Amino acid sequence: MKRPIRVLQALALVIAFKSAVHAGEIDWASLGNETGELLANLIRVDTTNPPGNETPAAAVLRQKLAEAGLDAQIIESAPGRGNLYVRLAGTSSARPIVLLAHLDVVPVEAARWSVPPFGGERRDGFVYGRGALDAKGVAAVQAMTVVALARSGQPLARDVILLATAGEETGGQMGAGWVAEHRSDLVAGAEYLVTEGDHIHPRANGTLVQVDVAEKTPYWVRLVTHGQAGHGSTPAGETAVTRLVRALGRVIAGPFPLVVTSPVQTYFSALAPLEREPLRGRLANLRAALRNPVFRTQFLGNARQSALVHNTVTPTVLSGSSATNVIPAEASAQLDCRLLPGADPKAFLSTLARSIADPEVKIEPLLAFASTASPGDSGFVRAVRAMSETDLDRAPVVPSVVTGFTDSHWFRSLGIASYGFVPFVLDEQEERTVHGIDERVSIANLGDGVRRLFLVLRSLPPTS
Ligand SMILES: [Zn+2]
Repeated sequence: MKRPIRVLQALALVIAFKSAVHAGEIDWASLGNETGELLANLIRVDTTNPPGNETPAAAVLRQKLAEAGLDAQIIESAPGRGNLYVRLAGTSSARPIVLLAHLDVVPVEAARWSVPPFGGERRDGFVYGRGALDAKGVAAVQAMTVVALARSGQPLARDVILLATAGEETGGQMGAGWVAEHRSDLVAGAEYLVTEGDHIHPRANGTLVQVDVAEKTPYWVRLVTHGQAGHGSTPAGETAVTRLVRALGRVIAGPFPLVVTSPVQTYFSALAPLEREPLRGRLANLRAALRNPVFRTQFLGNARQSALVHNTVTPTVLSGSSATNVIPAEASAQLDCRLLPGADPKAFLSTLARSIADPEVKIEPLLAFASTASPGDSGFVRAVRAMSETDLDRAPVVPSVVTGFTDSHWFRSLGIASYGFVPFVLDEQEERTVHGIDERVSIANLGDGVRRLFLVLRSLPPTS
């Protein structure tokens, strides 16, 4: 009985060796071009949300996957709101990994763009268009990684699930949230999920890989006030508008207390060794360092850093009267509040109510999610480290906390360790095109992105 096993083992080794050579022979540059074409085709389907209309974009992906022999399904949460799902079977019962991206995009101010935002134009090595980075570029890279895996003929130990969803930009209820609520069977048993959130940062002192493990949580509310309607020429002492303005004044007067949560401390501790003294020591113990008023002012001068240590409240949508001489019976303001990881929403709400100090001001909830985070040291994060060793010259990999939010929370709530990692190197200028003007991604990033994600998947521990 021993001998045949040895022969089989030797055979397996030969096959493994051959497939390793095969994987090394993948032409990543041509795969980058193919990814660029796929992305251009996705951009040409206008999925501005609202209304979204993601189904035709999902069909573009399904076609590409079909060419690689993969049979993807499009599942609609409502007419036109398509979510694409496909599963590449693994060789063992190891728990699956989910690759998640969204197909809807935010509206454009077309007149300010230098190219048609839905043209999918290629220029100077970039693909231009709304969604190039957020997040059709991510969807294209994830889909092509699955295609590359399928073509290699060497599946992973675990299943790879690709999900390209609708409606992220308006909260995910038509896409990721709908899948989590109505079709959680599609991701049942998954161990990891990777989506947008953070990426690879070029810095003066070397490349830095950030993996989003925690996000600030939205807690959007509307303040509503009432009063006597009437003519603007004869105001009562108090109107709906004056009451609202006073409440807003109180809300914005003082920031919420400075808190260094443990994911934020972990993030800055991981950044510390990359800096020189005295900053190195300060980041390593941020809580203590922020007691120094000079350093505190300097640190909080950066809006992103300030947002990482405060719950924030930003008034955005205001409404009152539609005519200068009419006092409205009702006025309202929407507050974009963002809570730190682990913050208690109830405690936040009572602090907000206390600072407004007026029981006549109603606080209505608009959007709230549970605060969630994923482990900063897991098989997934270690796989990103392994990729960085070989592909990014050992650039440090840091578990980060991001000020925005993605669809991760839907899946973190299902118990799937979810990470925000886009395998692109993006400088600040490119990052600013997200939700902005002339959004674009380089073809180099697309090809490198497929290779990096492929390497991350190949580096995942085979069993869990
Ligand atoms: Zn996005």
